[in-house]
Amino acid sequence: MSTYSIAVLAGDGIGSEVTAEALRVVDTAASLVGGLDIETEAIAASAVQWQQTGVAITDDQFDRCAAASAMYMGAIGLPEALHEDGTEVAGDVIFKLRFDLDLYAGVRPVKSYPGVPSLLAHGDDIDYIVVRENVEGLYASRGAGVNVRDEIATDTIVITRVGTEKVVRKAFALAAERAGTREFSRVTCVDKANVLASYAFFRKVFDEIGTEFPETEKERVYVDAMTLYQVQRPQSFDVVVAENMFGDIISDLSAGTVGGLGLASSGDIGDTHGLFQPAHGSAPTIAGQNIANPSAAILSGSLMLSWLGQQHDDDKAREAGRLIDVAVADALVSAENRTVDLRGTASTTDAGEAVIRRLHELSAQ
Ligand code: ATP
Repeated sequence: MSTYSIAVLAGDGIGSEVTAEALRVVDTAASLVGGLDIETEAIAASAVQWQQTGVAITDDQFDRCAAASAMYMGAIGLPEALHEDGTEVAGDVIFKLRFDLDLYAGVRPVKSYPGVPSLLAHGDDIDYIVVRENVEGLYASRGAGVNVRDEIATDTIVITRVGTEKVVRKAFALAAERAGTREFSRVTCVDKANVLASYAFFRKVFDEIGTEFPETEKERVYVDAMTLYQVQRPQSFDVVVAENMFGDIISDLSAGTVGGLGLASSGDIGDTHGLFQPAHGSAPTIAGQNIANPSAAILSGSLMLSWLGQQHDDDKAREAGRLIDVAVADALVSAENRTVDLRGTASTTDAGEAVIRRLHELSAQ
């Protein structure tokens, strides 16, 4: 029996609603596969905690996150929870975990699902992964930008050789893992190498690391063109790697092409720690109504199991993750299993229940 401890930061707004469904699904998949014991510990770090105590995440909460086998987050942040300089309190939690635990790769799968309405005329067969550099780039300046007499403001972009090599290698490793299951194996580097020296360096390191992976095609795209291609030819991507801010932007756009943020899962992954969370925020306007889409949260649970499987060479954990992916895809085909954002009729709990039903059917086959 493999035992995994999960630090669960359900967070604010819809965070607790989608987390409840994700954990139910993870638990069900684990018990159907057998040999897996998933133990959860609730961590109250959140914008609400900041409103009540002035601290979004305490040192003790951080230590408990760091000690867990994996971290799972619902959504942290509230529009009114802002520091004096206007930055969001949510960053105190997410950036602390990302930077202090070196979760350098933001892995964000982008996948179209049969039955889910697309905004694109040709929105079928989209299946790629955005790998966002998570701890450098422009966001490395968070909390350290300079405002000179309210006349000039600057933030500095940080690109290091070591950081770029790590995230680029991660992108190529993911492409290699997917190679057998796809018609092509390709890593696309997204940058603005034609304008800024920092991005030209990012691309140079990408080219250098790329020589270690002769089996994989390399593509280089400027970020402005990338947003066009994500709409015009999203099927041509396999794995995409980008600097922190560019990765942030293109991953939200990619979510929009496959049904919205309610389907966008993510993992913030380092060499020793992993944090898994839906890419959406706390969506306070729909919180407390049992209407939020739990799919992104559930798929993030599957990413977590797959990552645990890889870290611990545990086939059972990998199998539980794979089962969840199939069950979500199957459930989404019917409008009665989809929430309103995907033109369905299900509540949050109905949608979670549909995935659980499908998991039982799959394991009985
Ligand atoms: P953050 O900056 O914290 O990521 P955001 O500004 O991106 O947050 P979200 O909270 O993600 O905002 O919400 C953006 C929009 O997407 C809102 O209209 C929200 O209702 C919708 N939305 C987000 N998540 C979901 C979900 N799981 N189900 C349905 N709608 C969602």
